[in-house]
Amino acid sequence: LRTVREISFSGQEVTTEYTTKPKPRPAPDNPLTFGTVTTDHMFITNWKLGQGWKNPRIVPYQPLQLDPTAKVLHYAIEVFEGMKAYLGDDKELRMFRPMKNMDRLHKSAIRATLPVFDKTELKECLKALLEVDRDWAPDRKECSLYIRPTIIGVDASLGVNVATEALLYTILCPVGSYYGGGSFEAVSLYADEKAVRAWPGGAGSSKLGANYAPTVARQVEAAENGCVQVLWLFGDDHELTEVGTMNIFAFWENQRGEREVITPPLSDIILPGVTRDSVIQLIRSWGDVPVVERTFTMQDVMTAVNENRMLGLFGTGTACVVSPVKDILYRGERIAIPTLERAPVVTKVYKNLTDIHYGRTRAFSEWVE
Ligand code: PMP
Repeated sequence: LRTVREISFSGQEVTTEYTTKPKPRPAPDNPLTFGTVTTDHMFITNWKLGQGWKNPRIVPYQPLQLDPTAKVLHYAIEVFEGMKAYLGDDKELRMFRPMKNMDRLHKSAIRATLPVFDKTELKECLKALLEVDRDWAPDRKECSLYIRPTIIGVDASLGVNVATEALLYTILCPVGSYYGGGSFEAVSLYADEKAVRAWPGGAGSSKLGANYAPTVARQVEAAENGCVQVLWLFGDDHELTEVGTMNIFAFWENQRGEREVITPPLSDIILPGVTRDSVIQLIRSWGDVPVVERTFTMQDVMTAVNENRMLGLFGTGTACVVSPVKDILYRGERIAIPTLERAPVVTKVYKNLTDIHYGRTRAFSEWVE
């Protein structure tokens, strides 16, 4: 077997073709709605079974040409990542924990039988792309440059089997501030006991595009019921697993009367969020409230609310960092969660993490590069 290094591309090989038609830069009042604005360039490299990766290059942003039988178009043979670079107050552009995303993309690629690559080399290619499109990084409060590495199976064959040709590409999107620089907005969750996002033996812990298509209908149902996100439950006891495309945390007094932060343990049914890991490490570093990774259920949440022990519930993810929850619609009832009034931990996590993103602190500075 060839080693990864023999077949991977390397950051050193990357060539750059600059655009001759730069796009107009977004106007200062453009809200930079997620994923609507792309930069001038993209990174792309091709892979073929038996030949490995070829021709890693930065080229002008352009449409892809695919054979209509390409596997990605039929069986969603695709994996992706979502990560960000932040332009600091000192005008340095920093990626947040990029190797965590490289590790997850690598793991997802294996799950989807897509080709693997050298993780450090892909990170170097992303740095080269960021350098080329550096002036697209929004110099505005709480904005960032979203990075979307993607791998797709493209061989022209309708067989449901391993892709023999693939493309790895990465695009960049300047994205606006989630909270508009103002205060947090707490969201309503829709908990439908019949909706299942992931299951043991499935692929829910990998970032496959195929995991997301079936969630859109549930998201529409949530909106029709006046909710902003789906709260994904699992099992007969309605364990809380994730919320929308975020990991979930509760802050409560447990039945022994001790305050703790709790989040479900990683498993087949939980996407191992980079923000989740960072939030756990951050809160543990404060030393005043323990973080436990343990399963908890809707019954646990309702009992805590009824006994006045519930302090807060929040989602974590790259898009919004933290998202406080104000209520859960479950079995026709709205369960109120006093997150914004009772969980200062949410604001503190947000401030600590954004300080790291924008290089305002030396704490955890090893997380940015
Ligand atoms: N869960 C799901 C299902 C997701 O899609 C995401 C976004 N990648 C997350 C959790 C949060 O992960 P991260 O903190 O790495 O953005």
